[in-house]
Amino acid sequence: MMATLLEPEVRTARSDWPQVDLFGATIDVLRMSETLEIVQAWAAAPMARCRYVVTPNVDHTVLLHHRQDLRDAYHEASLVLADGWPVVVASRLVGKPLPERVPGSDLVPELMKSASPTKPLRVFLLGAASGVGERAARNIRSQWPGVDIVGVYSPPLGFEKDEEENNKILYMVEQTEPDILVVGLGAPKQELWVHANHKRLKAKVALCVGATIDFLAGEKARAPRWLQRLGLEWLHRMLSDPRRLVKRYAGDAWFFPGIVWREWRRGAVN
Ligand code: UDP
Repeated sequence: MMATLLEPEVRTARSDWPQVDLFGATIDVLRMSETLEIVQAWAAAPMARCRYVVTPNVDHTVLLHHRQDLRDAYHEASLVLADGWPVVVASRLVGKPLPERVPGSDLVPELMKSASPTKPLRVFLLGAASGVGERAARNIRSQWPGVDIVGVYSPPLGFEKDEEENNKILYMVEQTEPDILVVGLGAPKQELWVHANHKRLKAKVALCVGATIDFLAGEKARAPRWLQRLGLEWLHRMLSDPRRLVKRYAGDAWFFPGIVWREWRRGAVN
């Protein structure tokens, strides 16, 4: 009895830890280690509503500024985690400091690494181009025996507007009942899709994590750690796919300072 009393309590509700209102989102003030404990607890609990996790980077903050539908999706998320260094640095500049970045593309492998073969973590990979999910599944199985990949699916382009395709995905998830649904459909599609469907999704936790399935497959390379430590992962991403990303990052670089400035002024006035 005593031992139970002395065990640290696992915090599982959003009211159990602090948040800050920043850049149009309510971001959880959590470190990676704390986040892992929370998601592990959710994944180990009996199946209930599907909780979902979003990870804002600079591009999300700009999208949030312009899009009510994304703000709505963020509003119902069970965790909102700062994905990139620029968001963490900006949080400190405006006096609402976040302790560290908790990128989705680190959270997913950390969760997999910590899974035990005696009680495997059941994972469904949803998203990425055709064949990529299968390659990711092979790598995951050989690297982390505590992970059971129960489903892999790459939806065709435009699937979100196709009722039949949508139902097919929901059915596949329902049949496999994953602990973790890794959703890699790009932003804001993944957040909007999960928000629209989370009440029907039979998964314990959905993680909206962009290119993570590509990283796990070895299809795209993460920035080296030293570049990540310098806060320059975004530069590596941009240079690895300049045709798609230069225009986006230029737009973000134009809007983000204004968003940070307005946030700072709001703090200075209050
Ligand atoms: N993707 C997908 N279906 C779509 C659009 C994108 O599966 O309709 C996948 C794409 O193949 C890639 C990921 O979504 O694996 C995009 O991740 P990224 O983080 O690059 O997207 P971003 O959020 O930066 O747009």
